[in-house]
Amino acid sequence: MEFIPVNTPSLTGSEEKYLADCIRTGWISSEGPAIREFEQKFAAKIGRRCGIAVSNGTAALEIAVRALNLGPGDEVILPTFTIISCAAAVVKEGAIPVVVDADPVTWNMDVTRLAEKITAQTRAIMPVHIYGLPVDMDPIIELARRYNLKIIEDAAEAHGQTYKGKPCGTFGDLSIFSFYPNKLITTGEGGMLVTDDEALAERCRSLRNLCFQPQRRFIHEELGWNYRITNLQAALGLAQLEQWNSFIQRKRKMGRLYTELLTGVEGIQLSLEKTDHADNIYWVFGLVVDEKLGSAKTIMDRLAQNQIGTRPFFYPMHRQPVFQKMGLFSGLSCPVAERIAEQGFYLPSGLGLTEDQIVYVTDCLKQVLKS
Ligand SMILES: *Cc1c(COP(=O)(O)O)cnc(C)c1O
Repeated sequence: MEFIPVNTPSLTGSEEKYLADCIRTGWISSEGPAIREFEQKFAAKIGRRCGIAVSNGTAALEIAVRALNLGPGDEVILPTFTIISCAAAVVKEGAIPVVVDADPVTWNMDVTRLAEKITAQTRAIMPVHIYGLPVDMDPIIELARRYNLKIIEDAAEAHGQTYKGKPCGTFGDLSIFSFYPNKLITTGEGGMLVTDDEALAERCRSLRNLCFQPQRRFIHEELGWNYRITNLQAALGLAQLEQWNSFIQRKRKMGRLYTELLTGVEGIQLSLEKTDHADNIYWVFGLVVDEKLGSAKTIMDRLAQNQIGTRPFFYPMHRQPVFQKMGLFSGLSCPVAERIAEQGFYLPSGLGLTEDQIVYVTDCLKQVLKS
């Protein structure tokens, strides 16, 4: 049995052809024509006016925080159960991350605990759609309206997903996506900000490109980053965009097969099939193991011995050593996120995975859980 990686991308469309076009024409840098095309097509796919492609999703978050002028003294509310990029983007700009525990069923931010986090310093909320299931947006939108807060929507795990029929990526003043190889579509490395606000989009474009000025190129009024994307990456993105619908169908099919094969197995909680507002798009297929069966770590080790790659769940932000050392989140307890971080992991979920592999993975998992 060959090792089954936790992710294998699918690159069987026009990827090779479009990349070859870049080489043939010499357009390989961030000046190439594929970038605007990718931005426009991606924004249109999500249903937003502007797209700003960047070097990765983390960069998109950093640009979003700066573009919305969040800085020292400003509080930004976000889930504790997410990737470091979210809290890091806030902290790096000198703003203060305020975290909310996870919901034990959806693993998303527990929106019933949101209102209690709002203070006179709160300026923004950063909702994150976790593992392909959208966070309950209505309470977030309602609080943002009432307290005049910005929304930075992290949809890096929710390409093609909807909330109450409206696409994820349409809820933020700025919304961001990632095109890392384990995301629904990939550009190797890459990310995108989307917005309907042309002025905000222009500011993001400037921050992406060192804040060069159009009139006097080497005179800078502000510091930005080089977070540009290359034409090669955008070309890959265009090829991947063409496969958008089939990728979504495949993810859902894989999720349904995992669910079918694992339903009824004692002591595990599976990625939720649906909520009142969405059907899971199964960006990854996760599970949380009952303590009486051992920790996630022991089960993941056993699966690895059977040639199966897995990934642990996120480690909560309030427990991160780097933030503890900064004096952030001291004494804070978020029991749900702490538990699912300890007991949760996800199974191979890449688009390159076959049905036979899913059957093998679930057979092994059942064996491991029994022993
Ligand atoms: C992947 C991911 C990011 C970061 O994207 P990169 O392109 O890897 O920098 C941000 N937020 C979430 C929720 C992600 O899953």
